[in-house]
Amino acid sequence: MRTIDTIYINGSFVQPHGTEKAPLFNPATEEQIGTVHLGDEKDVDAAVRAAKSAFPAMSQSSKAERVAMLQSLHDAVAARASDLTDAMREEYGAPASFIGFSVTHAATAFLHMAKTLENYEFRRHIGHAEIEMRPAGVAAAITPWNSNYGFICSKLATAIAAGTTMVIKPSEMSAIQTQLITECLHAAGLPNGIFNIVNGYGHVVGAALSAHRDIAKISFTGSTVTGRAILQAASAALKRVTLELGGKSPNIILDDADLDLVIPQVLAVGFTNSGQACIAGTRILAPESRLAEIHDRLTQAVATFKVGDAGDPAVRIGPMVSEKQWDRVQSYIRLGQQEGARLIIGGEGRPEGLDRGWFVRPTIFSGVNNDMRIAREEIFGPVLCVVPYRDEAHALEIANDTVYGLQAYVFSSDIARAKRIAERIEAGRVVINGAPHEPLAPFGGFKQSGIGREFGTYGLESFLEPRAVLG
Ligand code: NAD
Repeated sequence: MRTIDTIYINGSFVQPHGTEKAPLFNPATEEQIGTVHLGDEKDVDAAVRAAKSAFPAMSQSSKAERVAMLQSLHDAVAARASDLTDAMREEYGAPASFIGFSVTHAATAFLHMAKTLENYEFRRHIGHAEIEMRPAGVAAAITPWNSNYGFICSKLATAIAAGTTMVIKPSEMSAIQTQLITECLHAAGLPNGIFNIVNGYGHVVGAALSAHRDIAKISFTGSTVTGRAILQAASAALKRVTLELGGKSPNIILDDADLDLVIPQVLAVGFTNSGQACIAGTRILAPESRLAEIHDRLTQAVATFKVGDAGDPAVRIGPMVSEKQWDRVQSYIRLGQQEGARLIIGGEGRPEGLDRGWFVRPTIFSGVNNDMRIAREEIFGPVLCVVPYRDEAHALEIANDTVYGLQAYVFSSDIARAKRIAERIEAGRVVINGAPHEPLAPFGGFKQSGIGREFGTYGLESFLEPRAVLG
């Protein structure tokens, strides 16, 4: 049993003023593995004070100094990759492939931002105006549980590159992982106050940060509902807000696709991070002419998927993060049946042979109409819908008929055709034929998937304000 009884303010691990405590669980066993002591509004005030007093020096730091900080942070995180992996496996339970990506991404986020910074011009001229890109002010980051290290590190990397200081509020459900990543960041030896980390509930610490008069910029990743609450709280002082929210990504199989190649990739992006991923390709758009063939291949492939403890490298699907999340996913599997969709694999309850742990059977519904709630709402578990389409125009209509617009996937044997489709999809990212992640390209959503972009130059500029001096 672990007790996480400190938060991180002004370069030190300190006891929080808050007195609430929350249990921490291993989702694969449902056992309580720890307790976290949570911060409150007074802790937010102390953290913001520290960030505010570190801001003047940070905003004046040189590019070379910031690059050196980013390099030290990278080295400190990379040095503990194995501990970070163990903690994520125990407290979160993602499959090994996702943990590997997440831990590596946490460290390399600092290097990617260093590269962006090295190539970035903070001063430019437009006509007779001199433009200076200045840090917007003290920033807050509010992050979810589904990739704790990655979100903390990429948001902090961007703040440092912009020359600003930050208060971070991670998910209260990830406190063991947060403790470890904080130890790494502390070991990088940055000046006090540049980053401060406060564990706490969203409605307490998150809400206090969103409304705090000394926070100028908020970078949030989480659900659309919470994003709206943050935007509302931030609007009083017109804070700059970046929101990375939910998704219901179309996963389009064109009729010329080579199914031997494509089905494994359609499933990999559909079930990524056990389905607990904003970018999961959860709506499989299948041509009517090949529907039966696609059903057969999907069910055959999913029948071989191993569900279980992430300690086993063969596991494809790990547990849901919490009992609440398990219940939510089960309720959608029930709902899909009530709405008239047909289960082609999976269903309610735990997978055979697993009598404890928040495990869900990988589930695929067919006969789904895009008006059904299972096709419109984010389920955030391993539950996919197959939505049949008649022709390209119909596929595009279904793909864009959603309040979300985060990511989309297109699979085709004809790249030019796939690109034509990609151009007409309303989403921040369109991935053709399983192309790999591009860490310097902008990431973020259209419509209710968010506001603003992260990563690379677009991410950096979301922490900056342009000032024009005309002389
Ligand atoms: P969540 O919105 O419940 O919580 C996210 C964070 O916000 C947590 O730290 C939480 O404590 C905090 N929070 C909650 N209420 C708050 C409030 N009123 N004010 C301020 N902060 C508050 O989301 P979650 O359940 O942790 O994560 C899952 C969601 O995140 C999914 O909807 C998923 O799509 C989304 N997500 C989006 C991206 C993206 O990049 N677009 C990435 C990962 C996850």
